[in-house]
Amino acid sequence: MNDQVNGQVNDQVNDHVTEPEPATGQADPRLEQLRGRLAAVRRRIDGAVAAAGRQERPPRLIVVTKFHPAEDVRRLALLGITDVGENRDQEAAEKAAALGALGLHWHFIGQLQSNKAKSVVKYAHAVHSVDRLQLAGALAKAMAAEQERTGRAPLECFIQVSLDDDAGGRRGGALPSDVPALAEQLAGSAGLRLAGVMAVAPFGSDPAPAFEKLAALSARLTADHPGATGISAGMSQDLEQAIRFGATHLRIGSDILGPRPALG
Ligand SMILES: *Cc1c(COP(=O)(O)O)cnc(C)c1O
Repeated sequence: MNDQVNGQVNDQVNDHVTEPEPATGQADPRLEQLRGRLAAVRRRIDGAVAAAGRQERPPRLIVVTKFHPAEDVRRLALLGITDVGENRDQEAAEKAAALGALGLHWHFIGQLQSNKAKSVVKYAHAVHSVDRLQLAGALAKAMAAEQERTGRAPLECFIQVSLDDDAGGRRGGALPSDVPALAEQLAGSAGLRLAGVMAVAPFGSDPAPAFEKLAALSARLTADHPGATGISAGMSQDLEQAIRFGATHLRIGSDILGPRPALG
């Protein structure tokens, strides 16, 4: 019985892999465009890593594929990308379902409503935008059910903090003073792993001081939670500064995929 079930699953996986798919070397201008842009971003990352003397612990590249079609995610996988980021649950769930056979790590990086937790834990390896206790509780509850069902690994959780000077910054995130309580709750939830901190640099000002502040918050967090060393920071415009201040996870979208199609 089990063999039969496994056989069916494998057949489906194989069907998936043999779908028409541009092989390297065949004419697929978009693949070549992505290859070139990815190489350029990798050169920038390598330069910043070398400048910061971080060759021993380079950051992980998450390619943010929001608004771009699943076919682009497939191309990125062909180019060796293993981690992709999305910020809307429905779009992410559809892409993850379509591309399940590729074994990618899906990172949820956008504002998340608690009632979407159940859906997100079905495909996400990590959530970078945990910014309040209620959401942490909803993710813990959803993961308890999901782990019972599938035995999956714990969900990696980053605490998103606001780096705006005024409270309740426009780019989202918890206040720095809220981090310890959130960290306690995440660290104490069986299905969750406290991974570290995340932030988006404030609009229109030098990102360096913001990332420096994030590094200080990270140091404070790891004093209490030594395993929570993650720093998710750095986008297309500011990846060099983020690397300089210790980013472990870069979230790069437009410099690899091009401008995002406007919302219809
Ligand atoms: C869209 C997005 C990114 C990627 O930004 P780019 O400027 O396109 O590189 C990174 N992080 C978050 C939270 C995002 O929403």
